[in-house]
Amino acid sequence: MKDVEIVNNLNAVRACLPEGVRLVAISKYHPKEYIEAAYSAGQRVFGESHEQELKEKVEQLPKDIEWHFIGHLQTNKVKYIAPYISMIEAVDSVKLMKEINKQAAKNDRVIDILLELHIAEEETKYGFTLDGCREMLKSQEWKDMHNVRICGVMMMASNVPDEVQIRKEMNSAWEFFTEIKQDYFADAPWFKERSWGMSHDYKIAVQCHSTMVRVGTGIFGPRVY
Ligand SMILES: *Cc1c(COP(=O)(O)O)cnc(C)c1O
Repeated sequence: MKDVEIVNNLNAVRACLPEGVRLVAISKYHPKEYIEAAYSAGQRVFGESHEQELKEKVEQLPKDIEWHFIGHLQTNKVKYIAPYISMIEAVDSVKLMKEINKQAAKNDRVIDILLELHIAEEETKYGFTLDGCREMLKSQEWKDMHNVRICGVMMMASNVPDEVQIRKEMNSAWEFFTEIKQDYFADAPWFKERSWGMSHDYKIAVQCHSTMVRVGTGIFGPRVY
């Protein structure tokens, strides 16, 4: 991809986002030059899903980039990203939350996280089931984790062409967000994020209460694995 194509794609995505919806540019598997092109067009929030790749990019790229960890994070990797990560988007167990809390404390900081929900019908997806998430919140254990701040929820809709199905899943996530906002986070103004929408469905997501879309291919082209 040429820089100009990346910038054009970026601007095309931005043009579709209503006010209040943030764009996380998903740069996994793409070279740092692609990130620099988007950066030069003003993009500051990027998402990566592999600790080692992220580390290399962090070392080489401007310090004012906000990095989101979007993939499945193994507990033994938390310590490597804890010093600098802006947000860990896909937290799907209490075990992982505890480890983030511990490593954040070691770094004398608070790490923002999202709870990953499993709503899509595909079986391979990670995330809390809605009942699992309710149970976790009810346990109150998370309330003692002072170095993590739960900022909202994230999910991936089923990867299907059926727009009705996608909307249904995103709206379930929205309903669940409002439920737990009311039950557990009414006094937490930072609990406001709904991270859904990828290249193929971000336009639907912005109609379904998303506050954060995660677009990779639509900006940087196909990934080369
Ligand atoms: C890779 C990835 C994306 C971006 O997917 P595209 O289809 O390239 O936009 C978004 N969210 C998560 C969790 C991802 O792993």
